[in-house]
Amino acid sequence: MLIYLNHAKKQGMDASIIQENLARIRASIAAPPDVKHAVKIVAVSKQQPDERIAAALAAGQRVFGENRVAEALARWEGRRGAYPDLRLHLIGALQTNKVADAVGLFDVIEVLDREKLAAALAREMQKQARPLPCLVQVNTGDEAQKSGVSPLEAVAFARRCQHQYGLNVEGFMCIPPIDETPAMHFALLAKLAAEADLSVLSMGMSGDYLEAIRFGATQVRIGTGIFGARPD
Ligand SMILES: *Cc1c(COP(=O)(O)O)cnc(C)c1O
Repeated sequence: MLIYLNHAKKQGMDASIIQENLARIRASIAAPPDVKHAVKIVAVSKQQPDERIAAALAAGQRVFGENRVAEALARWEGRRGAYPDLRLHLIGALQTNKVADAVGLFDVIEVLDREKLAAALAREMQKQARPLPCLVQVNTGDEAQKSGVSPLEAVAFARRCQHQYGLNVEGFMCIPPIDETPAMHFALLAKLAAEADLSVLSMGMSGDYLEAIRFGATQVRIGTGIFGARPD
C-alpha cells in the first residue's frame, strides 16, 4: 500500500489504482474464514479531489463517508440523481445549526453524541420525513478533545435516544486514540453493543480495519487506503 500512496502523491491518483485498492480491500475483508457477518466498506472521501471520487464510483463503490456537512453538500448533492443507490455517512462532528442540511443529504448519521443533538435530529427527521439510521459515537479513550459519549453512559444514552426521542439507533461508532493499540477499544465497543442489543459496529480505518473486523466491526471507514493521501 505504501507504494500506492507514494505513487499517488507524486503523480496524482490514477483511476486504476483506486480500483485496485478497492479490489484488494474487498478481497481482504472477504478472506478471514472466521468472520461470518457481512462488512460494509465506507469509503471516506473527505478532502479528496473530485476525480478520485469519480474513480471510486466507476469501480462500483456506493457508500461514502464525509466529515463536513458543507463540503459533502457541494460534492454529493449534484451526484444524487445519477447514483440513486448512493449511501452517505456523516462521520464528523455535527453542530445543531447544520442539522437540517445534514438530514437532507446524509443517509446515516454516525456521530450522535449528546442530548441536544438527539432532540434536534429527531425534530428535523420528523419535519423532513427522513427517519435516518443513527450510530452513537463513543469516546472509548475518554479523550478530552474528542467527541463522543463516555463508555459508561453509552448504553443508557442509546436507549434514551431510542425511547425518548424515537431515533433509529442501530449501533455504535468509535475512533480509538491514535497513540494506543486499538484492540481494547474495539473490544469495548463490541461489548457495549452486545449490552445494548445493537447490531451495527462502525470501527476500523485504513490502518486497522482487519483487526476491527476480527472484533466484530460490521462497517469500516477507509479513506487513504482507497484514495491515497489527502492533499493538504
Ligand atoms: C478521516 C476519517 C477516517 C478515515 O481515515 P483513514 O486513515 O484515511 O482511513 C475514518 N473515520 C473518521 C471518523 C475519519 O474522520
